Amino acid sequence: MTDFIILGTDTDAGKTTFALLWLHRFAESYSYWKPVETGDSDAERITRLCPAAVVHAPLVRLKAPVAPPLAARLEGQRVPQAKVIAGAMPQALNDKNIVVETFGGPFSPLNEEELQLALIHELALPCVLVSSTNLGGIGRTLQCLTALGAEGVDIVGVVLFGKYDEFTAEKVKQHAPTVTVVSLTPPEDWTSPALAACAERQREPLQCLKNALDRKRNVDPYVLAEDRRCVWHPYTPLVGADEPLVCVGARDEFLELADGRRVIDAISSWWTILHGHRHPPLMKTLAEASRRLDHVLFAGVTHPDAVELADLLLGTMPWVGGRVFYSDNGSTAVEVALKMAYQFWRHHGEPQRTRFVGFEHGYHGDTFGAMAVSRDPVFFGHFEPLLFRADILPLDANRLDEHLAQHASETAAVILEPLVQGAGGMRMHSAEVLKEIVEITHRHGVLFIADEVMTGGGRTGTQWAHQRAGIVPDLLCAAKTLTGGVMPLAATLVSPRIVEAFASADRTRTFFHGHSFTANPLACAVAAANLRLLLAGSLQDAKRIEHSWRNAFTDLHGRANVKDVRICGTIAAFEIDSTGGYLADAGQTMKRRCLEMGVFLRPLGNVIYVMPPFCTSRESLQRIADAMTAAVNGVA
Ligand code: PMP
Repeated sequence: MTDFIILGTDTDAGKTTFALLWLHRFAESYSYWKPVETGDSDAERITRLCPAAVVHAPLVRLKAPVAPPLAARLEGQRVPQAKVIAGAMPQALNDKNIVVETFGGPFSPLNEEELQLALIHELALPCVLVSSTNLGGIGRTLQCLTALGAEGVDIVGVVLFGKYDEFTAEKVKQHAPTVTVVSLTPPEDWTSPALAACAERQREPLQCLKNALDRKRNVDPYVLAEDRRCVWHPYTPLVGADEPLVCVGARDEFLELADGRRVIDAISSWWTILHGHRHPPLMKTLAEASRRLDHVLFAGVTHPDAVELADLLLGTMPWVGGRVFYSDNGSTAVEVALKMAYQFWRHHGEPQRTRFVGFEHGYHGDTFGAMAVSRDPVFFGHFEPLLFRADILPLDANRLDEHLAQHASETAAVILEPLVQGAGGMRMHSAEVLKEIVEITHRHGVLFIADEVMTGGGRTGTQWAHQRAGIVPDLLCAAKTLTGGVMPLAATLVSPRIVEAFASADRTRTFFHGHSFTANPLACAVAAANLRLLLAGSLQDAKRIEHSWRNAFTDLHGRANVKDVRICGTIAAFEIDSTGGYLADAGQTMKRRCLEMGVFLRPLGNVIYVMPPFCTSRESLQRIADAMTAAVNGVA
């Protein structure tokens, strides 16, 4: 069973009649809410004509039978924001689900700023579209389905209301093949018994629609069984792991699970989701881009989205010139940087520069080059004999200086995650340390690679983390948030000095590297939209989140089992004292405790951390803080 929204192609398509038939048939499992009413009250009509139904009071009740913002003007009022209305949705009562009726059409004005569509997005529920079979019904229904589809609204069913019209049903089914289409006729009489009889007569189509809605929620037994049988998950033992959550939807900071739970995605789905899940401007860009070009190879071909994005990206760097080399995930962005750095030296007649410097607790990806410069024994121990030579140093300027004093002439590049070493435990260093590391690297004539796969996109409060230190990297790796988390895309930004070493018609100087999905056009279009949003000021949210962490976690400092509290931008991490010997399970215990409180996260060993999307509301930030505090208390 699931909550759902009733939409109508028009004001009088039959939404309330459908609600009445539905409630007569399923009053034991559904209650009714129409959040915004103008003119005669549908809530009162439902109460009168279906006495068995539980009817929730509307949030906004306006007298004039006109559009809500106009009716509100006439009464000197304002209709609240969609977010506020959605936030007032009644809680499920006695296990009853809620059917939410809308007013007018989906694109009718809701308030002075928004259309009703904004409320539909905020409610984030499956929808049933009610349409009339009167003349013009087919066109209106398909027009509405197309527009709603482009907006990412989840339409589960269409109800064709009126005189049974087989042709209309056939055509709507033909053009909306994934939607359940049913035909219903209205009652002969507007009395409760007549409606009950009408619903009884039409139990079959009503049940068909209910089955379609139920399928939305009741997928987990099948999915979990099949998942166990045929899927291999990352970083997950094949035996003994907790059952995975079955995620069927997402919106803003929330993941919607198949069992009806809505949990906060406190780690932004492995640090990818930036503004929030299904952020409307990005979804709109994706829908528009999908009408132009799906994919095209990127050797010997270009496209406007890749060019625009490259231009925007280079505009964020302290270079004049430079180039963008695209790939499709963080590890490949790092591979590209490592290969380019080495080939750069070959072009300069220094092929002996086969060494790289990485730092303890660094993590740069799971491909061979990335593993070599990370060298984490837990993740990569098995592959140690296969990894190329890299020197892994403590993150200390003096140690780097000493090392390069001896080995600079054999070293191609130093690679570091600026300000925050993510997968290695959300370990943070200051802008001063970063500045010193880069100065030493350059003083010894070695290249510096900024791995901003995690820190990029404003996570640490600035567009790129390295900007805080005012340093100039030679290569920069970006992925994860590059598309706001919507599509896989990565970029290696290359400084002019490196580009110059490759600028030759001599084929031996070509950079022979590429991936099938290099610069996927859909991903590039979304990434450009994402970057424009960032440049237009969404970094404010990183500051807001950082401020909230500083308030929420000050009193955790100095607690017996908390070794360290680290905060940088949207990231907050606690390191739990590991002396108790309980730590093998502490991460799992904390994760389960947070999930019970509606917050999804994945601790890194004894480090519990969060990095929520920019849209995360004040209430959700508080819920995250409460869950983390409870989790830390639970392993005390
Ligand atoms: N570099 C850093 C700093 C990362 O955090 C990660 C992933 N966690 C990667 C590279 C690899 O990215 P991907 O998982 O997209 O291959």
